[in-house]
Amino acid sequence: MSLFSWQEGAWSQLTKNNKMHHAYLFVGASGAGLEKFASTFAQSLICNKLKDTNEPCGICQDCQWLLTEHPNLQVIDNSAEDSSSNNISIESIRNLKRFFELSSHQIGGNKVILIHNAESLTLNAANALLKILEEPPENSYLILTTNSISALLPTIISRCLIVSCPKPTNEEARQFLKLEGHENLSSQLPLFNNLPLDLIANQSDNELFETIIEEFKKGKDFELMTIESKWLSGDFSAIISLFQKWIYDIFLFKLTTKSHFFEHKKENIKKLSNNTDISKLIRLVKSVNNIKSISNKPINKELAFDNLMIEYKNIFK
Ligand SMILES: [Zn+2]
Repeated sequence: MSLFSWQEGAWSQLTKNNKMHHAYLFVGASGAGLEKFASTFAQSLICNKLKDTNEPCGICQDCQWLLTEHPNLQVIDNSAEDSSSNNISIESIRNLKRFFELSSHQIGGNKVILIHNAESLTLNAANALLKILEEPPENSYLILTTNSISALLPTIISRCLIVSCPKPTNEEARQFLKLEGHENLSSQLPLFNNLPLDLIANQSDNELFETIIEEFKKGKDFELMTIESKWLSGDFSAIISLFQKWIYDIFLFKLTTKSHFFEHKKENIKKLSNNTDISKLIRLVKSVNNIKSISNKPINKELAFDNLMIEYKNIFK
């Protein structure tokens, strides 16, 4: 149940005063442990013997129940909802309303609802939730999480206490990877916006990324024939992002002799950067940005990627 090291400061800020709100909106990145931060808070409202740090103790009867299912906690996680859509339906929210209306479990205590990815609420569901927020029963708490606060109704946001979930510093992220036995992945942190959980979750992508970068390194000797169908069959947007970061570093090095995403491949970046024609490079940056903006749409990926790679080969002298 313990928090990530980079969350400890924000946790003590959040829990140091006893003034409780009925609704909380946790905002941040999943890759920085947003869900864990929010669910630890939800559990702390139910645990009977909080630690000195106000974290749930993990051993009382309530904490034991939380490991499986606690009658006073309802969790909505749309990734676990019916697979036909990722939206959180109005039925789910109506069920929550009934949960709040039923008398508290015989042991008493707080009732807590935790809704992950609140941006996935349908408009009807959001309006139903708003009704609950307007008249929250006693000893009841609503906790929402979101990666994307701008996708929520302003009326929902205004009724919640907003809690920002911190991101790890580069050093904290590295320490975390080391503790988890993934020290070898540290150099790739910039590629994942310094979010170690995203990095670990996408390890299969990492291997593919490494293969692709080996080819990008060839610069004007890049061979279109080496493009494999598996490069393009998965998340096309992720592959374009990878190329975008690669080009960004070549461009950045040209201007500043620094790199951002591929610090561990700086020698390659330097060599390529020194051989590029700056005006062609600027045009390529624009082309990549264009493709990125439509990469989630149904486009001919092979053709789009081939064209990008032809343009890439041409930026080198
Ligand atoms: Zn406990």
